[in-house]
Amino acid sequence: MESTHSQFVTNLQRLLLEGDFVGTYKFALLISLARWAVENPNFESDREVDVSELAPHFLDLYWPQAQPFAPASTTREPGATYEDVLHSPMIGVLHQDRGQKEDRQAPRILKDIHQSYHECGGSIRALPESTHARLLQRIRETITVNPLWRLQVVRSSKEPLTTLYRPGRTRFKIRFEPGIARCFSHFAPLVEELARAGWMRHVLRCNPKILGAPSQVESFLFPDSRNALAALRSPLFEVQGDACFYCTEPLGRKVAVDHFLPWSKYRRDLGHNFVLAHPTCNRSKSDLLAGCHHLENWIKRNARHGPFLAEAFEERRIPHDMALSLRVAQSLYALADFEGAELWVGSGVLKPIHSEWKDLLGVA
Ligand SMILES: [Zn+2]
Repeated sequence: MESTHSQFVTNLQRLLLEGDFVGTYKFALLISLARWAVENPNFESDREVDVSELAPHFLDLYWPQAQPFAPASTTREPGATYEDVLHSPMIGVLHQDRGQKEDRQAPRILKDIHQSYHECGGSIRALPESTHARLLQRIRETITVNPLWRLQVVRSSKEPLTTLYRPGRTRFKIRFEPGIARCFSHFAPLVEELARAGWMRHVLRCNPKILGAPSQVESFLFPDSRNALAALRSPLFEVQGDACFYCTEPLGRKVAVDHFLPWSKYRRDLGHNFVLAHPTCNRSKSDLLAGCHHLENWIKRNARHGPFLAEAFEERRIPHDMALSLRVAQSLYALADFEGAELWVGSGVLKPIHSEWKDLLGVA
């Protein structure tokens, strides 16, 4: 496995350094492959994967980027009128292709998303089902036509590499090289960091007139938590009572909505992943996975209150899928086990991972 891992990182580095990045689709493809792999820990490598499985991740990534970018510094410009702001070159959909001069030349995926806005007021969860399905269908086509077979083209080789995957039996299918899906899952945070950094650098280059700090551009491109976490407090209070999920002490006035599976390791907001905690417990846990005692409580809470939580998530238009959340947990704990990582037990207390997580998550 070690050699597959080092080969994977070497190949990834080569694709990033030697690949031609005209637009941003390849970055989105890398992130989508990584997220898909984390969500599919039991993937059998002889199965072909349909590109439609990657399309929802593309949609998630590009959705916020189809909105106009309005840096705070422009709106705060002293003496600037509304008209100034409106006609400022900084307001508009950010360019993502080298050579793109106008918004109407925006990548097809951004145009497709933009066209759907009027049907849902800008909220992805309010999209009518038929529009959503049509959008995913178009994205599947876009991925197949554009980045899927260009990702593995590097300047120092005449032929595209097949270090990650090869064509499947139909044009929408791919077949991973042995061990590669597992590598994508193991290195998902690394792939995500590298691809996001490359994506951001690319957008900054394509939009040289943008005012505002790069951090502003980053939080626009990749908003941390798109859902109104505040909306989750009341249903979580109902199932948790006035007790911190981790230390069980009364919550008090300041309450944090915490990602049980750390956001840095899996960047999709799924409803069942949220718990209420003290800000201090939340900060102490930070990017660490919680210990098995907490994992057990999290699984039990979601099982016991499943229907109630599902209804609350639906009402608030928060994506949720308990089976998917459990699969993601399986991937992340398997990686921690592989790394021999320590789990967070309580403020300032870490313990080496123990195989108990396998029983809890039903891993043989
Ligand atoms: Zn606490």
